[in-house]
Amino acid sequence: MLNLIRRFTAQIFKILVYQHTLRPSAPRPNRYLAVFGLCLALSAAPAWADATITATYGSQTIRFTHVASQNGSEAIGTQDPGFAALLRATGAVLTWKPGERYVMITTAVPVVVSFSVGDRRYDVGPISLQAAFAPYQSGSEVYLPFDEVLRALDLDLRQDGTALYLQPQLASLDVSTQGGRATIVAHGGAPLRPRVVSQNGAAVVYEFDGVGTTLTGTRAVNAAGIRTLQIAQTGSVRDPKTLVTVTLSPGASVQPPHSNDDRDVVLAFGGTEQPQQTQSVQQPAPNAPQDSNAAPAAAAPAGPAIVTGVTVQQTADGYTVSIAVSGNAAFEWHRLRDPDNRFWVDISGAQLQGPPIEQDEPDPLVSLRVRQNDPQTVRVAISLLGPKALGLSPSATGLNVEVSRQDASDVARSGSGSIGSVISSNEQQEALVTPAPIDENDAGDGNDTTWKFGPRDGSDYVPSNPRLIVIDPGHGGSDPGSQHGALREADLTLDMANRLRDLLTARGWQVRMTRDTDVDVYGADASAKQELQARDDVANNAGARMFVSLHANAFINSGPYGTTCYISKQSDWALARIVNRHLASDGTKNDGIVKSHLYVTLHAHMPAVLIETAFLTNPDDYALLSSSAWRQKVAQEIADGIGEYAQAYPVSNQPAL
Ligand SMILES: [Zn+2]
Repeated sequence: MLNLIRRFTAQIFKILVYQHTLRPSAPRPNRYLAVFGLCLALSAAPAWADATITATYGSQTIRFTHVASQNGSEAIGTQDPGFAALLRATGAVLTWKPGERYVMITTAVPVVVSFSVGDRRYDVGPISLQAAFAPYQSGSEVYLPFDEVLRALDLDLRQDGTALYLQPQLASLDVSTQGGRATIVAHGGAPLRPRVVSQNGAAVVYEFDGVGTTLTGTRAVNAAGIRTLQIAQTGSVRDPKTLVTVTLSPGASVQPPHSNDDRDVVLAFGGTEQPQQTQSVQQPAPNAPQDSNAAPAAAAPAGPAIVTGVTVQQTADGYTVSIAVSGNAAFEWHRLRDPDNRFWVDISGAQLQGPPIEQDEPDPLVSLRVRQNDPQTVRVAISLLGPKALGLSPSATGLNVEVSRQDASDVARSGSGSIGSVISSNEQQEALVTPAPIDENDAGDGNDTTWKFGPRDGSDYVPSNPRLIVIDPGHGGSDPGSQHGALREADLTLDMANRLRDLLTARGWQVRMTRDTDVDVYGADASAKQELQARDDVANNAGARMFVSLHANAFINSGPYGTTCYISKQSDWALARIVNRHLASDGTKNDGIVKSHLYVTLHAHMPAVLIETAFLTNPDDYALLSSSAWRQKVAQEIADGIGEYAQAYPVSNQPAL
């Protein structure tokens, strides 16, 4: 499933790792148990609820009455008036109708938090998480895990004597370094207004008033002028403060904090080091001369794309929002359901030139917001007057969003693509070092000719074992992948992988599977990165010719269906194109090839493709996935594609097949 994969994009992964690093490693004490007993004692609960919880949020007292106990945690009903008041107060919107299985909460950020009845897994934006218990139906409403809901709203329920407080949290500190520059984006559950309380050459201390945190601890950064980051909470439960101390390398520069959005604050630092791609404790000699021979141009990371401006122009049918982008970038867009008609597109690997934009727009638009959402992502958000028809098209200068006056009835909720426009000098250098060998014939396959790839293009890879293909059945062990009805993704991918292995072996290939039973490849307690890297290691260590990862897709509703091939590197392209062409007759829609920073395709040294075979959540695709004959057909088509690719793109040490 793509949602499970997407969370491993570098940016998100970093946040996850960081939170894991900084959150206390011991399980949190179950404060709700105490809270719960207290509430039982203090209030007369209605017959249909186990208890009530009364808590202070800012200056507001909120009484939650649709509260139930579930496995020692609390559940909150979707029709609880206190819950509605809290969502209003935090600027969040809940989308749910009686009888519906899915509950979505759109936070003020906006991030979409989605729960589904009967499934412990829930999504916060692109990150899939596991709740303490699965949401369940009771009476006419759905009960959600309260702790997880509060965390998604960046709140923490804390007790002070007999009083309870919904304490806004400093929820994440995302450190990113690029070249000699570091940025820290602080994100919180309340407006963040850090004050510099002390600053000297060795450290700068920021005080965030009004927010607590569970991120306490110290983390070594050792890059771009920052040595460490220390986070501590002071103040009281009612009036919390979080102190962030950044210790600095000699000569580091510090810029004043600035905020593009009242819940995100950017702290920027400049180091004196040479640009480093990996964080390292090694310190260069102070005053080292700029060594023009030390780093070849090709090893430098590609410069970010620049969003140079956003303009709105009237058309016959509505408006065109033109996002001018210099450079190459991937984008991902989302839209919410009526009545919350917000749309946004995230342009990744991009920097916003100039100040953020926030302005009202004429009907059918309501407003336009453009901001640096995190150090690598520019977000363009448009509020619409209704469920208007939208179209996205990459242009010569960036990306156009066409907004129609017409309402659209049944529309896609999300999508992605890439923008390729002006080639920056960095990328021209890359192109000189590694000429892009895209086949002329590829031009007919779609809009792929505008694709550009970063430095990790893989085109100079020579397999030490040109006869070996590594097949990666997605998920397994502690991670079942998507589950729907009687089907588990981990079982389906293993079944298809076994079929593909048998076909390839019969044709003279050597095949290694990253797993051939229902197990984790790295281990049950591995981080996401460890688990995915372990799969790549199987292929990388063996010098395999190709890497093929098999998955089944899922979505929050039953609409989307089809087969998609995902790639990340220049050298993946030809393999994906040929395999995708063979898959075109698999009986569901062919959604083509998508370039994405998926972990396994990006970190496999050899040509790699990740195939989302079909959607478990679509009834027609589900029927296909249920059929062993269809799974055999898919395996056959992939095997045919691999064979054709090997013939068309022989390696220097190509074996006779
Ligand atoms: Zn998957």
